[in-house]
Amino acid sequence: MRVLIIGANGQVARHTISKLTEAGHTTVAMIRDPKKADELKALGAQEVVVADLEGDFEYAYHGVEAVIFAAGSGGHTGADKTILIDLWGAMKAIDTAERLGVKRFVMLSSMGTVDPDKSDRIRHYLVAKKLADDHLKRSSLTYTIVRPGSLTNESAKQLLKLESEIQVRDNTITREDVATVLAKVVDRENMYGKTFEILNGNVQMEQALDIF
Ligand code: NAP
Repeated sequence: MRVLIIGANGQVARHTISKLTEAGHTTVAMIRDPKKADELKALGAQEVVVADLEGDFEYAYHGVEAVIFAAGSGGHTGADKTILIDLWGAMKAIDTAERLGVKRFVMLSSMGTVDPDKSDRIRHYLVAKKLADDHLKRSSLTYTIVRPGSLTNESAKQLLKLESEIQVRDNTITREDVATVLAKVVDRENMYGKTFEILNGNVQMEQALDIF
């Protein structure tokens, strides 16, 4: 598949480019800073498109069959960027896919979005992610919504806990494992129309994805 990764210079997205390339997909990396293009090509991106979710980015969708939304404003910016990127940027990315007939959409969301009121510290972020997820669910797109716990940079464990809603809180998953899940679900039909949370656990990744 020809897969557009939005937020391609991000830490999860960079792993995702490598995983998609290993799986034989063609990746189009959407980034803001053109100086990063060579690094992303070295990871396997076939094409790099410079575009910003706060501006026009429709041209990044040319010939695309699936979108992975892995962008985020990050904890270093204010609540204004949470609205503009994590909520509004995601909604525009979904609407653009619908308008251009790109049917497949994978959203990198977050654990805790089921009920943002349970969180004090990042409630506004979880509300933004929940509203974006709800917008995707209401769209005509074939979606998968992946909601990881706290991300770490440890090496991949290939072992998951994967459920609709995991009751454990304050738990972690490696960015590389999240990336592997994103790359695997993109063309995995049993994951179409599904929303799930993931942490590192004790089930082999393939099995966890098969049985859900
Ligand atoms: P990251 O390294 O901060 O990557 C986010 C990417 O989004 C960056 O490359 C950034 O581009 C891009 N971006 C920001 N604003 C943009 C805009 N206006 N237009 C286009 N791209 C834009 O984050 P990560 O560690 O890979 O995590 C990815 C996402 O996972 C987070 O954003 C968050 O929503 C979700 N998540 C995080 C956690 C956690 O524990 N951190 C837990 C659950 C879910 P630049 O490189 O140009 O800055």
